Amino acid sequence: MKISAIRVYQVDLPLVEGRYSWSEGKYVEVFDSTVVELVTDDGRSGFGEVCPLGPFYLPAFGPGARAGIGELSASLIGQDPTAIGPINQRMDRALLGHPYVKSAIDMACWDLLGKVCEKSVCDLFGGKFGESVALYRAISQRPADEMAENVAAHRADGYTKFQLKVGGRPADDIERIHAAADVLTDGEILVADANTGWRVDDAVRVVNAVRDRDVYIEQPCRSYEHCLTVRRRTSLPFILDENITNIEALMRGHSDAAMDVINLKISKVGGLTKARQIRDLCVTLNLPMTIEDSWGGDIITAAIAHLAHSTPEALRFSATDFNSYVTVRNATGAPQRVAGQMRASDEPGLGIEPDMDALGTAVAVYAD
Ligand code: MG
Repeated sequence: MKISAIRVYQVDLPLVEGRYSWSEGKYVEVFDSTVVELVTDDGRSGFGEVCPLGPFYLPAFGPGARAGIGELSASLIGQDPTAIGPINQRMDRALLGHPYVKSAIDMACWDLLGKVCEKSVCDLFGGKFGESVALYRAISQRPADEMAENVAAHRADGYTKFQLKVGGRPADDIERIHAAADVLTDGEILVADANTGWRVDDAVRVVNAVRDRDVYIEQPCRSYEHCLTVRRRTSLPFILDENITNIEALMRGHSDAAMDVINLKISKVGGLTKARQIRDLCVTLNLPMTIEDSWGGDIITAAIAHLAHSTPEALRFSATDFNSYVTVRNATGAPQRVAGQMRASDEPGLGIEPDMDALGTAVAVYAD
């Protein structure tokens, strides 16, 4: 089997809530998602998706994903998409860095491998743990009382884990954390995610002011060293996300005892292949993970479900159902949230069928 063509689609994903806001005044209203179709010489298609959280969250942006896929296309046409190790090596040799560009291609290769083997990606990753995967809900940054109300509103959807978007003025963030902690019920989990938005002194003010609340602190500062400084000045449980970009970063963080949980985003580390390597290492290290991506529609939600559902439950801190945050469906067959949980499909590959009307005309086609 060989890749005979690569088709690239662009899909706008507007938000149900209209706007998603996080640290330092950043927000997105419509996500720019890219879907890749790998067409093979025996008439199959595999699909993958990459959707940056705007152009200013990680070093990634929508048009960059599409340009990068064009850059990689010549090294992929004519190759066996089910030989995923060599495909990843070819991508890494053809384009240094740019992990998010490679993520959708790698995802489409896993979709094809599953279809060829007639196995779900979850089964290829080792099989399901448990019946379903518990999800968290990100609470967009707003005034404290509105964020507390949104925690209560999303509890009605079955969520028990809530991630507050903070990283603003320390006094406002202290108020946000207290307001949300006040409405928590027994068994619920609260995370305050600053998304790199605090200086060390800001972060220390916040962690001191909420030291008696049951809350995790996530990625307070931009640099790893500053996060480690804050980590060493708080007794609160601690999550790293933006700094955990590869295995080397994970090993350094583990060696420094820099975090209690990591956030594993598929496109941040370069695709499902590398995300699974990190997942397996975290399992060995007994380090819990939130399994997710920077953003996405149905195809990314399906990929998250396969990776998360094949992760032991004790190490599955949470996962994300991005398709419930957006108004556009780019595929059918993707997991749908039920009572705050989702489950990976048992169908071959990612278990999705792309909605070709939603994808529209390909914005680029590369063929031999
Ligand atoms: Mg985060």
